[in-house]
Amino acid sequence: MATLEITDLHVSVTTEDGPKEILKGVTLTINSGETHAIMGPNGSGKSTLAYSIAGHPKYTVTSGTVTLDGEDVLAMSVDERARAGLFLAMQYPVEVPGVTVSNFLRTAKTAVDGEAPKLRHWVKDVRNAMDELRMDPAFAERNVNEGFSGGEKKRHEILQMELLKPKFAILDETDSGLDVDALRIVSEGVNRAKAGTDAGVLLITHYTRILRYITPDQVHVFVDGRIAEQGGAELADRLEAEGYDRFLTTGEPAT
Ligand code: ADP
Ligand code: MG
Ligand code: MG
Repeated sequence: MATLEITDLHVSVTTEDGPKEILKGVTLTINSGETHAIMGPNGSGKSTLAYSIAGHPKYTVTSGTVTLDGEDVLAMSVDERARAGLFLAMQYPVEVPGVTVSNFLRTAKTAVDGEAPKLRHWVKDVRNAMDELRMDPAFAERNVNEGFSGGEKKRHEILQMELLKPKFAILDETDSGLDVDALRIVSEGVNRAKAGTDAGVLLITHYTRILRYITPDQVHVFVDGRIAEQGGAELADRLEAEGYDRFLTTGEPAT
């Protein structure tokens, strides 16, 4: 079993007015096989957490730790994080001119595993995964992210997760911009990937609807860079009914 442990994480970004603290002490532990939902209003720091774990250069960790089975993730390069078993979809959000999805996936798989995948199995694995995500085989020959629709980007993310088989996957707003059918297909992909590898998943979302398909073991509510409340799946149901208002109007994190 693997453990990803975030302890009292403080993160700042550089703005025109100087450094601004976004994460103000976030602590959470996620084990293999668990799904943790990070929920919260816009601007509460959810993506900042994802980018910080990914090692995005814009985000400076000012204190706190992130460890994977005791290893210091924050000391690792972005590549080392991937090899250690962290999958961070937002690591590759940009267009990669002239690189096809097919080549990109094989290069990423080779980088993560330290050896090239056996071609015959690999071609079959890619085809099966694309099939299950209802992706047109022609998609494999398109250039990465070039003209991808919102839904295609999300499917491409989950395709990567299924093929790279990470220990932990951090999925930021995987549900945004998906219609109901696409949401179900993408969610099933996450569940398949989880079942196949016992991965832990940090599922970042503003909305509760994806949690109807992917049941969280724990829900953490972010408000102003801190976890204001945590609970089980029932907390998501409560948020669906009540929204985030009670966190925002009191000005005080609920206990
Ligand atoms: P969420 O994902 O919960 O919507 P974010 O982590 O994207 O929240 O943003 C949290 C806060 O940090 C917001 O107020 C946002 O404006 C600010 N922020 C995030 N990234 C930057 C940045 N690169 N420069 C300036 N401010 C930023
Ligand atoms: Mg603190
Ligand atoms: Mg965000």
